[in-house]
Amino acid sequence: MAMALAMRCNIRRRLALAAARFFSVVKESSANESSATAESTAIPSLSIDRSGLHVPEDYQSPQIAETDMEKQLKSIITFRGGPITVAEYMEEVLTNPSAGYYLHQEVFGAAGSFITSPDVSQMFGEMIGIWSVSLWEKMGKPRKLQLVELGPGRGTLMQDLLRSTLTFKDFSKALSIHFVECSPALRKQQRRALQCPGEEKKHEGGDRPAVENSRSQRFETNVSWYLDLKDVPRGVPTIIIAQEFFDALPIHQFQKTPVGWCEKLIDVDSSGAFRFVLSSQPTAATLLYLKKRLNWITAVEEESIHHIEVCPKALQVSQEIAKRVAEDSGGGIIIDYGKDEPVTDSFQAIRNHEFVNVLDKPGTADLSAHVDFAAIKRMVAETASPTVSTYGPIFQQEFLAMLGINVRLEALVKDASDEQGEKLQLGYWRLVGEGPPPWLSEGDDGYKIQGMGKHYRVLAIADSKLGAPACFRQ
Ligand code: SAH
Repeated sequence: MAMALAMRCNIRRRLALAAARFFSVVKESSANESSATAESTAIPSLSIDRSGLHVPEDYQSPQIAETDMEKQLKSIITFRGGPITVAEYMEEVLTNPSAGYYLHQEVFGAAGSFITSPDVSQMFGEMIGIWSVSLWEKMGKPRKLQLVELGPGRGTLMQDLLRSTLTFKDFSKALSIHFVECSPALRKQQRRALQCPGEEKKHEGGDRPAVENSRSQRFETNVSWYLDLKDVPRGVPTIIIAQEFFDALPIHQFQKTPVGWCEKLIDVDSSGAFRFVLSSQPTAATLLYLKKRLNWITAVEEESIHHIEVCPKALQVSQEIAKRVAEDSGGGIIIDYGKDEPVTDSFQAIRNHEFVNVLDKPGTADLSAHVDFAAIKRMVAETASPTVSTYGPIFQQEFLAMLGINVRLEALVKDASDEQGEKLQLGYWRLVGEGPPPWLSEGDDGYKIQGMGKHYRVLAIADSKLGAPACFRQ
């Protein structure tokens, strides 16, 4: 007993140390409201000019075995008679209905490719819950509120959010849940997380899952699934959550060459391996998307960059969020890794918790790219300024600290066993810290954990009439 008490005190002391160190690095957020003037807001679709491509001289083709996805991509390249864009590759690999990466069950967690914040700790969803209740209060506590989550994964965030906000009875009663999710396998897991009965429709390869409706028995609220944010009903105040959703949206990559900006494309070499090639002249995407992105930076900034990524789908979704918030009131929150400036070269693949070549065994690794928060802010400003404002991005560390994650940790540790306490503390560090946990030494279990506190950023988009949402400054 004395031993257990001593260990408990030890955990508390280390916790206090971790919190002290943490708070010494948290600074106040800076107000970052967008102020761009209205311009063209439509994001057109495009067709690609694949003429006259060449292979960069330093290219090495990878030795890879053929997967179903690889066969599918090769047939698209053959059928189209030329290379595909990085965006087409990414979209096909991640969300193709028959062999897309997100169609598999074991994408997340220890058995999958990667772990996300909701999986790290229940505190993450709980903090988003506090943020949502606070925004709902600012909105005047509407009797009906749509809570939309884009790309809910296993449904863990929403489960933690709904459980922890049950004490706010009027908030819980006002809610209907709306999931935007393309993967039938993940929709199934989301149903389980919220205890939604009813048979989901069978989805054979090539069949896109339609709108589905159910009711959560656990949380006594209606739950619906959609393929696109555009399909979610309008006319009701709405809060939109996008946790690690934007990084999965397809990007175009561009490279500066002696003949100007060209697009990076993907084709197959004579040995059957995928390779990057460069268009010999500007493609349609260069003219449509790159031009728009470059309009948002100065000539001096453009001079200093040689690569740039543009994500038209992220701009489309941001535009849709802005329109909804302007018309129906409410707000959105985007949590992801990314930058508040143009993203140059971030396209990456993760398999079994390790970075791998993006062209290697497509469909077996997660593909993602850093989020260009600066572009999202400009897009929102063009769409709905001044009725909608953006706030941030601020670091996840700051965001969670201001919502009181340290207080929540202490409360949880108080009632936890030593083992649970250690786990909670490591989870806390992972969400808010930087580098490995400072109370561990090399060789200790858990030392390899890297804090996400300053890798992840949080951007809010909200109805300007409501003022700055919790954690953000006007
Ligand atoms: N938010 C979750 C999952 C992040 S992974 C978490 O943090 O754990 C990305 C999620 O977005 C998955 O659920 C994936 O199936 C979904 N997704 C990716 N691209 C999508 C698209 N174009 N349309 C709808 N859902 C998409």
